[in-house]
Amino acid sequence: MTKPDPCPFFIGGEWLHPKLSTTPVYNPSTGDVIAECPVGGLTEVNAAVEAAAAAFPDWMETPPVERVRILARFKMLLEENFEDIVRCTTREHGKTLGESRGDVKRGMEVVEFALGVPSLLMGEILENVARGIDCEAIRQPLGVCAGITPFNFPAMVPLWMYPIALACGNTFVLKPSEKVPLTAIKIAKLLEKASLPKGVLNIVHGGRDVVDALLTHPKVKAISFVGSTPIARHIYEVGAKHGKRVQSNGGAKNYAIIMPDADAENSTRGLIEAAFGCAGERCMAGSTAVIVGGAEKTVLPTLIEATRRIKVGPTDREAQPDMGAVITPQHRDRVLELIETGVKEGAKIPADGRGVKVSEAPNGFYVGATILDHVNHDMTVAKEEVFGPVLNVMHMEDLEQAIEQANRSPYGNGASIFTRSGKAAREFKHRINCGMAGINIGVPASMAWFPFNGWNDSFFGDLHMQGKEGVQFFTQQKVTTSRWFSYGEGDIWHK
Ligand code: NAD
Repeated sequence: MTKPDPCPFFIGGEWLHPKLSTTPVYNPSTGDVIAECPVGGLTEVNAAVEAAAAAFPDWMETPPVERVRILARFKMLLEENFEDIVRCTTREHGKTLGESRGDVKRGMEVVEFALGVPSLLMGEILENVARGIDCEAIRQPLGVCAGITPFNFPAMVPLWMYPIALACGNTFVLKPSEKVPLTAIKIAKLLEKASLPKGVLNIVHGGRDVVDALLTHPKVKAISFVGSTPIARHIYEVGAKHGKRVQSNGGAKNYAIIMPDADAENSTRGLIEAAFGCAGERCMAGSTAVIVGGAEKTVLPTLIEATRRIKVGPTDREAQPDMGAVITPQHRDRVLELIETGVKEGAKIPADGRGVKVSEAPNGFYVGATILDHVNHDMTVAKEEVFGPVLNVMHMEDLEQAIEQANRSPYGNGASIFTRSGKAAREFKHRINCGMAGINIGVPASMAWFPFNGWNDSFFGDLHMQGKEGVQFFTQQKVTTSRWFSYGEGDIWHK
């Protein structure tokens, strides 16, 4: 048995190892416990928030160009250490190395976006709002901000938050998922190496107690959260009640509409990637394919064939499978249970991932790629976010019915259409009830320069993460109206 990886807190520039109870961090490919994540509480949160509060005045006064110069060094270190981070992500998460590269790259793009934040911090001024009176609006940081992140993108999601918060002049306390804390630690070490002043970024570990302590701490001004919908709603309610700004991303159930004119090969590739990429553990996973009319004969058979061919296996070695394990044994059991329920409630199962055997890693947490066909709106699998490699298939007569079905979802992260018709695509784009729409794109997740734009039960708050909204979230405007009556006595140029 190898020694578990250390999982320290990062508080005021020190890496700390307090003696606390722990929860296991697995390598999902093998089932081995690779680290023990400490369960912090009020003491650790108080220390981290105090460190962030102490670092704030000087960081706020640091010119924005100097702040982003540190982020530029950070970006270079992320590039130099790219493969090391990728391997860490795969080891604690289970996704393939290719998927981890995507995870880290997407996070690095947020750092690239943050390098341009000084332009977005520039204010506005209007001369002569009345005679001789000028009015200007500037953006100032909020103070201590906190971020709470989920397990499924160990690199990208924390990087949605603190590069922008820091570029805007805030200090930050991050609580990564207790299931994948190692990538967040590795990345924070690079920011430390890039000469970030002590206390500007802090990391605490734990579960509900730590989160509640952050949500209610009087010195925390803003909370960024990403996770499941019930917790996202709780974060929004408690945070708002305690006077904090909150942006809270929740879960999702994303529909992909396949029109009869869709290109079979391209739409199959798009759907396979959307449904089974990262073993379905993505908030933008295309978890329901809505097959319209004749697509039943053109696309569905190809889709079923391609799903049956997906090879699942360990990702922590050079030979890579098509799909890795899911995060924990408990999650694997939940996914399998939802598949069983789907079958009991009447779904057909033309691609069955239950009972998949992975001989080279028999203790890993595997579920094979699964299609549940003839799912209807009332089935449990249609309502619950499965967050595993399970694609529901529904059958509709026309675009009208398909859009109506997609719009019945209480969520609103993403939806896609596969078609050759500009008119159908335009109709879909206009009427679909979600924040990120894809046309012949299976995972229409916005890039760093755009908001990550959930609607409905996929988002609670006003300003989304990333892009200009990210900068607005992490700053408050100050509007100054000024009038000068006469030249001052000391004005040496005035005669
Ligand atoms: P989760 O909600 O279980 O956990 C998210 C975070 O909340 C973790 O840091 C966890 O420690 C903390 N937490 C858990 N229970 C808590 C409680 N009772 N009180 C306070 N904090 C608590 O989510 P997860 O399983 O880590 O991640 C998967 C979920 O995240 C999925 O629902 C997925 O759709 C969602 N997600 C959403 C987005 C998005 O942008 N909308 C992106 C990624 C993931």
